[in-house]
Amino acid sequence: MPASLVNRNGAPISSSGYSGIVEHSGPMHSFLEYSTSIVFPVLFALNLHWAGSRLYELDLLWLIALAIPLGIIGGDLVSGIVHWAADTYCSVDTPVVGASLVKPFRMHHVYPRDICTHGLIETVGNVCILAFPLLLLCLYLQWWLPDSALLAFAVVCMAFVCVATVATNQFHKWAHQERVSKVAHWLQRARLVLEPEHHRLHHTEPFNKYYCITNGWLNPLLNRIDFFRRLEGTLAFLGIETAKVKEMSSRRVSD
Ligand SMILES: [Zn+2]
Ligand SMILES: [Zn+2]
Repeated sequence: MPASLVNRNGAPISSSGYSGIVEHSGPMHSFLEYSTSIVFPVLFALNLHWAGSRLYELDLLWLIALAIPLGIIGGDLVSGIVHWAADTYCSVDTPVVGASLVKPFRMHHVYPRDICTHGLIETVGNVCILAFPLLLLCLYLQWWLPDSALLAFAVVCMAFVCVATVATNQFHKWAHQERVSKVAHWLQRARLVLEPEHHRLHHTEPFNKYYCITNGWLNPLLNRIDFFRRLEGTLAFLGIETAKVKEMSSRRVSD
């Protein structure tokens, strides 16, 4: 599947793309994945209903047509930044994020097709856990500031950012599957979701571009403005080095 036989760390990529390892979440994490995945559509619908009603009353319902693409683009950006951060910073041993965020992304480069073995909840559950408090906060803010058109617009945008982000791993999974449903195939060809050939560019040397994996709409722009390298430069200026730089300096010290 990937064009190169080694990944960004020089480690060999499994020719089949599968590790053959089956890992399951612990009982607490599994409970959170299931419960938030079930509650997520309810919270999304409630937010949309409240915010939509407010915009309707103010004759501003047309703003939803603007909020939907903005939300989806926002979701693509979130997917790119989270993916870039997990690929570039920290290690699998970093507390809190190491096992839950860094490891899955790093393993994905060695076994890109392991994601295809994940069930729906395993695929979307992690992001539902993060989206849950955000959507609750949106409901609370609307209850607190019921007359704000700006808040209603922001809530619709945020609700679609959450939906796009929750759906990202499913779109990413489709991009690695050998066969997908006709609907998924149509969505990929229409570029409404991550297209496999486009995503393959991320799994190809130099492995440091095309991080956005919701639909990849932002990748050409972010590549053009060298967004992630500039971000790395800014963070290095603030003393936050990438995992690669840290590794090289620790090797120099041990030499
Ligand atoms: Zn990656
Ligand atoms: Zn991938």
